[in-house]
Amino acid sequence: MSFSTKQAILDYCILNNIEISEDTAQKFEALSDELEKFNAHTNVTALKTREDIAIKHFADSLAVLKYDLIKKNANVIDIGCGAGFPGLPVKMLRPDIKITFVDSTAKKLKFTSSVAELFEMSDVEVCPERAEELVSKGKREKYDVALSRAVASLPVLVELVLPFVKVGGCFVAYKSSLEADTANKESELSKAMGGIKKLGGKVEAVLDASLPGANDETQKHSLIVIRKTSRTPDSFPRRYAQIVKKPL
Ligand code: SAH
Repeated sequence: MSFSTKQAILDYCILNNIEISEDTAQKFEALSDELEKFNAHTNVTALKTREDIAIKHFADSLAVLKYDLIKKNANVIDIGCGAGFPGLPVKMLRPDIKITFVDSTAKKLKFTSSVAELFEMSDVEVCPERAEELVSKGKREKYDVALSRAVASLPVLVELVLPFVKVGGCFVAYKSSLEADTANKESELSKAMGGIKKLGGKVEAVLDASLPGANDETQKHSLIVIRKTSRTPDSFPRRYAQIVKKPL
């Protein structure tokens, strides 16, 4: 029997107690079709099979919905979303949220815009800009939740993302469990601790986000939840070259 994206999404959601309707799950078949079509002319993903796309893009993106982190009608931002991950699948299950997609590569965002139109999504904003430049354009501390997957190492990422988050809101970073391992002083999370504090954040939790069939440490995923406890000083974010050269 051929692979069913719809069934894979339903299975993932049932296993993880994520509420989803049959209709919404069916839409992931269309999302996979669109991604395949778009990828034929504009490279937005290295994943080739429908199974890999269903599991490693769609289900992986939905991991945040295992937890009660995104309140009803929340204002959400996805930084470095590429073709729209994790934000697009999250918005498909949560039409109540407002979502802003940010990526410095405009052609990738064209995919996100066309899908938002195809599925008649409302409350979707698309910003083809660098995160560290966009934040000063009326977007500082405006979001309840920021999401980001596979964009930069955590010490760099926190300076790009935390300035967007409201005090009381949170940043959910999609990372591998090795990157999120606080017991290892060399992990990304350990190295980011000082910067998180300077930016007004506090690590609240490291949550399991492993995919079905991930059985060794290298395949396991985590969500690092960083709560914004005080305002980010106006001196951050610095210029990108500076952020990368000397992470906080
Ligand atoms: N989040 C997506 C894409 C990951 S690839 C996914 O998980 O599939 C990383 C993306 O981050 C690229 O599309 C790149 O253009 C974007 N990016 C990197 N640095 C950025 C910055 N400073 N501001 C905005 N986008 C950035």
